[in-house]
Amino acid sequence: MSKPRVALLGLGIMGSGMAGRLLSAGFPLTIYNRSRYKAARFADAGASVAATPRQAVAHADIVISIVADDAASKAVWFGEDGALAGVARGAVLIESSTLSVNYIGELAKAAAERGCEFLDAPVTGSKPHAESGQVLFLVGGSAQTLATARPALEVMSRDIVHLGPTGSGALLKLINNFMCGVQLASLAEASALIDAGKLDREKALTVLTNGAPGSPLIKTIAARISAAPTSPNFLLRLMAKDLTYAVSEAKSHGLALETASAALEIFNRAAEAGHGDEDFSAVIGSIAAR
Ligand code: NAP
Repeated sequence: MSKPRVALLGLGIMGSGMAGRLLSAGFPLTIYNRSRYKAARFADAGASVAATPRQAVAHADIVISIVADDAASKAVWFGEDGALAGVARGAVLIESSTLSVNYIGELAKAAAERGCEFLDAPVTGSKPHAESGQVLFLVGGSAQTLATARPALEVMSRDIVHLGPTGSGALLKLINNFMCGVQLASLAEASALIDAGKLDREKALTVLTNGAPGSPLIKTIAARISAAPTSPNFLLRLMAKDLTYAVSEAKSHGLALETASAALEIFNRAAEAGHGDEDFSAVIGSIAAR
């Protein structure tokens, strides 16, 4: 049986890795990215390059979007040149960006009005996981729609977790990332106190990372303190975005995420100090005594 035709919207850090996986697995792929130059290397590898999201999805059975935030997702799905304007009835539309749950509801409604199936399927993992097909998809939507999308999702992932109806994937992803943000903010404060108290930094970090606080995230990021990645894996401003969406979602349930709010302040200050387009580990070192 021939493979479904896939359109991928977004060739950032995550989308680039995912495009590579889809191409290697032999899926007929059309790509769109706002900054067209990022598409060149995938065109050389056999992808068709579209000038607009609408053009990209014209022949697609499955459409996957992975862009920065709610505004970016709106820009690729909605509007005259947006994907919803060009997609065929019956196509499966997948939103893999980390977005607000409210917005996912709006997008799912618009997909249904267009006669399409919809999944929210944000991912955990980062640049290396996207490149090696090892992300984890957190999926909301119907089991039947997921069954149709599964062969394409499988080549990009180590696993796919079906969490429940539309919005379930988006919600768990925000919970996942607010916990990551809180951990990283605590490491940033710990690191500032280690320096202020003139402890031996290497010894202190070895104790912390090998002890109870040493979660997989803390271990990974502590390693970046001595060897920063040459290019970002996850932009600091996107972590601030995730914390913002998580705090606002919790508020709609009458919950105050106090640890997330405190972490958000720390990430916002780091972004204001000019670290927004750096790897999110740049939050460490952004805390000064006041
Ligand atoms: P990224 O490298 O910053 O890429 C962002 C993408 O969004 C680019 O394709 C960018 O296009 C596009 N974009 C931004 N604003 C746009 C707009 N107004 N209109 C159209 N396109 C727009 O981000 P990423 O790391 O790939 O992350 C993508 C999504 O996955 C985000 O929601 C992020 O939170 C989530 N995520 C990231 C990671 C990670 O570790 N990196 C892990 C899990 C989930 P241009 O190239 O033109 O700027």
